[in-house]
Amino acid sequence: TGLTMTLPLYGVFGASGFGREVMPLLRAQLQQVVSSEQLVFIDDAPSTTKLNGYDVLTWAEFLARPASQRSVVLAIANSRIREVLAQRCQAAGVHQLSVQAANVVRMDSITLGEGAVLSPFVSLTSNIRIGCYFHANFYSYVAHDCIIGDFVTFGPRVMCNGNVHIEDHAYIGTGAILKQG
Ligand code: UDP
Repeated sequence: TGLTMTLPLYGVFGASGFGREVMPLLRAQLQQVVSSEQLVFIDDAPSTTKLNGYDVLTWAEFLARPASQRSVVLAIANSRIREVLAQRCQAAGVHQLSVQAANVVRMDSITLGEGAVLSPFVSLTSNIRIGCYFHANFYSYVAHDCIIGDFVTFGPRVMCNGNVHIEDHAYIGTGAILKQG
């Protein structure tokens, strides 16, 4: 009699390069609990309606699709865009997801804010404080006693040694070595 169950909907915001790398991590993280129809890309300027088998929705379409709850991971490397989109999500009651690869190493006493993306082979060692919407791309690490602000972005293979402080919105490029202290 037309009884349909409404399920949670999960969006990867950004249907471009980084988004396509984050979707498989989100899928792996949720594979026990969701079907692929509950996973979508969201993009404000979609160039296609299907990407790697997933629907690409505009923001309006994402909000309009029946769902018991809506969650998003911001998969856009530009931190200023992440900040604007985080506000948009909050205003619409859309939850923030953090996504991390299965092989990420996390040691002791780590504080990590909401909306983080930790790519494969990332390590966070001990006694680290990291703000919201942190992105750490492949093979990056953060060592002991680092303090990292909000909306910080690490490209691939960033080596952040101990006792480094990084301010909000910093972008650390591929292969950078941040020396101790
Ligand atoms: N984008 C968006 N809303 C914005 C700004 C950007 O949906 O306010 C989308 C944009 O259309 C593009 C993606 O985010 O598809 C950013 O892709 P880009 O290749 O620039 O960056 P990356 O994937 O490397 O983070």
